[in-house]
Amino acid sequence: MTTVKTEVKEVGLYINGEYVPSSDGETFEVTNPANQELIARVSEATEEDVDRACRAARDAFENGPWRKMPIEERAAKLRKMADIILERKEEIARNDAMDVGKPYEATLNGEVARAAHNIRFFADFAEKQGAEAYPMGEEYINYTRYEPVGVAALITPWNVPFMLTTWKLGPCLAAGNTAVIKPAENTPLSVSLLGEIAKEAGIPDGVVNVVQGKGSVVGNALTTHPEVDLVSFTGSTATAKHIMESGASTLKKVSFELGGKAANIIFEDADLEKAIPGSIRAAFFNSGQVCLAGSRILVQRSILDEFLEKFKQAAQAMKVGDPQEKGTDMGPLVSEDHYKKVTSYFEVAKQEGAQLISGGKRPELPEKLSEGFYLEPTIYVHEDPKARICQEEIFGPVVTIIPFDTEEEALEIANDTQYGLNGVVWTENLKRAHRISHGVRAGTIWVNCWFVRDLRAPFGGFKKSGIGREGGEHSMAFFTEAKNICIALN
Ligand code: NAD
Repeated sequence: MTTVKTEVKEVGLYINGEYVPSSDGETFEVTNPANQELIARVSEATEEDVDRACRAARDAFENGPWRKMPIEERAAKLRKMADIILERKEEIARNDAMDVGKPYEATLNGEVARAAHNIRFFADFAEKQGAEAYPMGEEYINYTRYEPVGVAALITPWNVPFMLTTWKLGPCLAAGNTAVIKPAENTPLSVSLLGEIAKEAGIPDGVVNVVQGKGSVVGNALTTHPEVDLVSFTGSTATAKHIMESGASTLKKVSFELGGKAANIIFEDADLEKAIPGSIRAAFFNSGQVCLAGSRILVQRSILDEFLEKFKQAAQAMKVGDPQEKGTDMGPLVSEDHYKKVTSYFEVAKQEGAQLISGGKRPELPEKLSEGFYLEPTIYVHEDPKARICQEEIFGPVVTIIPFDTEEEALEIANDTQYGLNGVVWTENLKRAHRISHGVRAGTIWVNCWFVRDLRAPFGGFKKSGIGREGGEHSMAFFTEAKNICIALN
């Protein structure tokens, strides 16, 4: 399978159990970043449409069966939803490959499979969740109920559209809330299917709604809407600041998963057989468009030359090209705007005196991909950790190698950023692995691995990388209100 001309999809909004056009009939176009072909026309929601979706979600929450349904029944419907996702996995992966430019094979077997698992995991989790009881002598007993909060706005970014949305939708629905989902405007296709998949699984109308369009209009209408009780947002730190302000007057509960600039630290005692491929994945997976990307590679000076040579060879061996083609390691960047943003850092790097080791340009590709937004994996070396390319989230296949001498220096550089999403350390010294893991101020530390997620474990950021945690009980805590009931026994 290769990138071929596809039919142009017509995608509606999904409100109260059906696809509908926007109230003013406006649509926006979505193109394939692999070749700039038009792939979809999507209804662009107005504030009136967002209002309809929020009211549908409110009505389904207050008057529908969803929140009062016994958990076994709700969980069974969610498991059915997971089954349907797997039945339709090729279609979902094809959609993400087409509008994000993700390699199809990896998306099919990785993110889409994980999306089904997310929904199933939270169905199982909620079903097993018990309640606490606190007897007070013979006279009183307290017990705790975890009740759904209400209507949730789930706002997601373009880099992992389907999987990230299910990561929120799973706990949101398992807890008995209703949802209005807003995917990113340049990658609306896979997420647009979630409403109909929910309906097919027997989830009542109005429980899952999907609105499409720009963040400044549709996202803003959601985060200011009086019927929305909570906002689960994954995206940039700048947008999170807007959401916090716009949600303040209606006091929305918020959960933020934001950007990062992770330090990937390679000590001289690291096993380079593992550290090189691990660092390549951390740097260039999804064309580096990953919040968890190990985009600052801190290398101990004693192994700098060896690391550089091996890392450069591995980067140059990557196959950049058609995301639909088997064996492609890296597809295009998501859009022209993003391509311009990422490539603008080449000029910044030059001005800052960074040394270009590899990449920094478009690869040679077949004619049919000449319109796509492709870049070679790009590697710089820079001694100054304060430089912009070492501080700003570039969100593309661009990494900077920063040499260091001592463990203390590595920690200082690792923590010298506004972000704190994750860190990575490669060492064969167990004590050092613990010391560094404790010292790096970030929500997740990977030792001798990268991007391994146990859904029960907390996930989220320190500093400007987020507010709150997702995963297992942490997600359930966000999507529920704890209520204590105290009963006199005499
Ligand atoms: P973004 O903040 O521009 O957009 C994210 C979503 O917010 C989109 O759906 C967008 O339409 C919407 N939005 C934009 N303005 C809005 C507003 N004023 N009100 C409400 N919604 C609004 O981010 P992006 O460019 O789509 O995604 C990339 C960013 O996401 C990077 O910073 C990346 O690190 C981060 N990210 C974080 C995680 C994580 O788990 N921490 C995961 C993936 C991506």
